[in-house]
Amino acid sequence: MNRDEIIENLMTDRPAALFGEADRVRRLHVGNAVHLRGLIEFSNVCGRDCIYCGIRRSNHGVARYKMSTGEIFDAAAYAVGLGFKSLVLQSGESGQYSTDEMVALIGRIKQAFGVAITLSMGEKTRVEYAALRQAGADRYLLRFETSCEKLFIKLKPDSVYADRIQCLSWLREVGFQVGSGIMVGLPGQTEEMIADDILLMRELDLDMVGFGPFIPDPNTPLKGVGGGSLGLTLRTLALIRIVMRNVHIPATTAMGTIDPNGRQRALEVGANVLMPNVTPTRYREMYQLYPNKPGLKQAPSDTFETLRALVHSVGRTVATDPGHSLKRSA
Ligand code: SAH
Repeated sequence: MNRDEIIENLMTDRPAALFGEADRVRRLHVGNAVHLRGLIEFSNVCGRDCIYCGIRRSNHGVARYKMSTGEIFDAAAYAVGLGFKSLVLQSGESGQYSTDEMVALIGRIKQAFGVAITLSMGEKTRVEYAALRQAGADRYLLRFETSCEKLFIKLKPDSVYADRIQCLSWLREVGFQVGSGIMVGLPGQTEEMIADDILLMRELDLDMVGFGPFIPDPNTPLKGVGGGSLGLTLRTLALIRIVMRNVHIPATTAMGTIDPNGRQRALEVGANVLMPNVTPTRYREMYQLYPNKPGLKQAPSDTFETLRALVHSVGRTVATDPGHSLKRSA
């Protein structure tokens, strides 16, 4: 599909054929299994001031927490006990554990459970990424958020677009399976920009594409602006599946936040991953990147069972393998 066709499909008000094709491509290249990744949001401490994010540095109304490495290990053990074969460790940026501490933690989790580990901790140096990979982390998620540099600078006033793209190359070079992605429905974002985002995802040859609708947070400078719609989010998802084919695409929490059936719909138009929150309940309400995040009060096991039912409701199965890259061997 070329850029014009992508734009046309992003704008269509009759997406049935697009959705059907995305589901066909998903079945053919990815199969029926859905991977469940347990998400541990281990700290909301952040040194960045991204204007869309509820845990931005300037948001002084947020109580900050940092789980101890023991607590993170226990949360991992709990998730493994529930049946997760892969874990995602996510946090704010900077002010977190030193690379040495993370290396030790990753080594401990790997040795004890052998699960796949994905990190999502923002921008770091090549040397730090290499150490984390060496310690046994398998994957890294770092969204570029938007491929429009002008919009990027507005949204992330203390970040540099070229640095973030550089990080994605470093992650690849040191041997990570790499995930990146965007937010859909950002203020000032056009369909042309989203088309360019999708083409950049293809150029980066990503192993995973994580994205979701932008949801305005009342405690940020973007309070009150419009957010991303489910329709545009699903059309974007379908197009990513068709353009990228053998890539992992989660039905993200943000999709479930703007519509109770959002994640189910996402699984039907190309998604093949769910990332239930397994953060200890007492920390969850402090990790709100945007308001009304579901599952804040649920115990992790409830979330796991809910998602298993969701997977079965769309005629799919829960994967029994760790779900490594479909492109490269782990
Ligand atoms: N701090 C790390 C990882 C945590 S943020 C990083 O920046 O990479 C994870 C993702 O949440 C971000 O990449 C962004 O795309 C998304 N996010 C943040 N605020 C959001 C909002 N208000 N609505 C929707 N998604 C948001």
